[in-house]
Amino acid sequence: MALGRLVGAVLRARGPGPAVRTLRLTHSCVDPAVGLTDEQKEFQKMAFDFASNELAPHMAEWDQKETFPVETMRKAARLGFGGIYVQPDVGGSGLSRLDTSIIFEALSTGCVSTTAYISIHNMCVWMIDTFGSQEQRQQHCPVLCNMERFASYCLTEPGSGSDAASLLTTAKLEGDHYILNGSKAFISGGGDTDLYVVMCRTGDKGPKGISCLLVERGTSGMSFGKKEKKIGWNSQPTRAVIFEDCAVPVTNRIGKEGDGFSIAMKGLNGGRINIASCSLGAAYASILLARDHLKVRRQFGEPLANSQYLQFRLAEMATGLLAARLMVRNAASALQAGREDAVALCSMAKLFATDECFTICNQALQMHGGYGYLKDYAVQQFVRDIRVHQILEGTERLFFLFHSKKGTSFHFECAGKTE
Ligand SMILES: Cc1cc2nc3c(=O)[nH]c(=O)nc-3n(C[C@H](O)[C@H](O)[C@H](O)COP(=O)(O)OP(=O)(O)OC[C@H]3O[C@@H](n4cnc5c(N)ncnc54)[C@H](O)[C@@H]3O)c2cc1C
Repeated sequence: MALGRLVGAVLRARGPGPAVRTLRLTHSCVDPAVGLTDEQKEFQKMAFDFASNELAPHMAEWDQKETFPVETMRKAARLGFGGIYVQPDVGGSGLSRLDTSIIFEALSTGCVSTTAYISIHNMCVWMIDTFGSQEQRQQHCPVLCNMERFASYCLTEPGSGSDAASLLTTAKLEGDHYILNGSKAFISGGGDTDLYVVMCRTGDKGPKGISCLLVERGTSGMSFGKKEKKIGWNSQPTRAVIFEDCAVPVTNRIGKEGDGFSIAMKGLNGGRINIASCSLGAAYASILLARDHLKVRRQFGEPLANSQYLQFRLAEMATGLLAARLMVRNAASALQAGREDAVALCSMAKLFATDECFTICNQALQMHGGYGYLKDYAVQQFVRDIRVHQILEGTERLFFLFHSKKGTSFHFECAGKTE
């Protein structure tokens, strides 16, 4: 189904009488193009077209066969989606965080899982572009931006998830190499990707003892766990990455010793916007699928779309989507502007959008009745694929410690995976 070509919809009941007891679609309410510049509309259309033509037709098959669609992602990279917010001198598209969000929302209408991996890859390339030396940028970014090579982000460990700063993978300096020991869990792309951005301990306990190293697949002492069986995100592999006396050149360190945790968290600020944007795309697509289903499915002698209850529910879903999108775009703009509140806004947008969009997709499945539970219907895959967005890149509600400041105003501080 060419989701990208469909326009946004809110269903409105018109006045009484048989002819008017049908649903009317309005374009503007949840249309993701509303309020964008002409330039943004152009690359949004490009992303929607790519989603319709290159992703949506394969999304079910990739899910079922657990295919990592390397060649399709390389096609996406030819449109500039391999390094969207990476600087142009190393092959990036040099677009803003807001532009990036617009693109990921559109792409994920075609396949959430593939888009989410592309978003992680983008985050890794941005980290190298932003914190790497000139040599590192020139060596790695161009081949990552065109997706000749693929990257993975390695922070989580079996014993450290939400409490990422307690990670135990060690990197001991021996001459001009670090010797890595330890393991990373749940690594997206793990085993199939080429370059691993690894957070490891070079110093004392806590965040200041963590450094960031680039590890090439094939380095002696590096191996991978089994491919995890997952309920969604099946077009990208997830594996443990294991280091046993794995020697990595000192020249592969990104930033200074002790900078690793800060680099990892700065990557995740954008990562949260990106993952939230993938949730927006799933919710948008699911609303359109539900709308179409309600129009054709007849019960009690008339289309389900005539049910005022379902119309209200659809209107609530559209409202939730719009609220989530506004939060995500607001946070993206704050991050781009380097605003002081950007970190909290990114976390808040991620929290709200991933919860709200999951509810929307799940409600859309409900509106399909039993058909929604069948794999022939795309809505179930949107539900399965975005469930994990509430878990990763900062777990659910762990972002906030909400406490009063001087008794009058309130101040958000981020906990868990933050600086
Ligand atoms: C499909 C998939 C792909 C992933 N990809 C990557 C990747 O590419 N790179 C990477 O580094 N990681 C990745 N992850 C890991 C992901 O970031 C972690 O799963 C996530 O951070 C949560 O950590 P955890 O699983 O250890 O859960 P835990 O930290 O054990 O948390 C379990 C539950 O307890 C809650 N909780 C934890 N601490 C507290 C507390 N103090 N107070 C209240 N509640 C608390 C959490 O919110 C959560 O609901 C991936 C995970 C999945 C499932």
